Amino acid sequence: MDEHEVWVLRLGHRPGRDNRMTTHVGLTARALGADRVLLAGDATKSRDTIEDITDRFGGPFTVEQTDEPNRVVREFPGTVVHLTMYGLPVQDVEAEIREAHADEAVLVVVGAEKVTFDVYEAADYNVGVTNQPHSEVAGLAVFLDRLFDGRELDREWTDADRRVVPMATGKKVVPTDSEE
Ligand code: SAM
Repeated sequence: MDEHEVWVLRLGHRPGRDNRMTTHVGLTARALGADRVLLAGDATKSRDTIEDITDRFGGPFTVEQTDEPNRVVREFPGTVVHLTMYGLPVQDVEAEIREAHADEAVLVVVGAEKVTFDVYEAADYNVGVTNQPHSEVAGLAVFLDRLFDGRELDREWTDADRRVVPMATGKKVVPTDSEE
């Protein structure tokens, strides 16, 4: 049985200042098993970079921009998880969220600057990856790994034109049709 989809919504992108962080939210979502990232606001540069990586290293993975992020949260047909240092400890709620994911899609919401309170209210779960302030990229990585219970590390990629050959030392990238 195919798993229900996991989407990531990146709120509050500030063009210029947040380009690198927003790109990394998208790349982390892609690498660690999510199906789609939605970028709020004018995040075209980040979108282009994430799409370029997907074209080269494979998918499936979709990048979208939205001007109505709060509507996405309100109307998402599944479980909404907002990552925030003020939320319930991830280790206390991860099993419940995994059970919900067995039945329906999950939307993981991360912020940039201050997240408005309606997002806290609309979320099914406000989740802290520790209750210490850190980064949306780190919070997202830990949360996705807990959600997928490590399965995302063995994910297979399609439509890549290159792949990395893991090595103890050194760097090797080969075309995907190579036997190596
Ligand atoms: N000060 C902002 C606020 O109060 O909403 C948060 C800014 S923080 C740099 C950016 C994002 O990182 C947050 O919106 C949240 O999604 C994520 N984040 C930071 N610390 C976190 C934590 N301990 N657990 C989960 N997510 C966290």
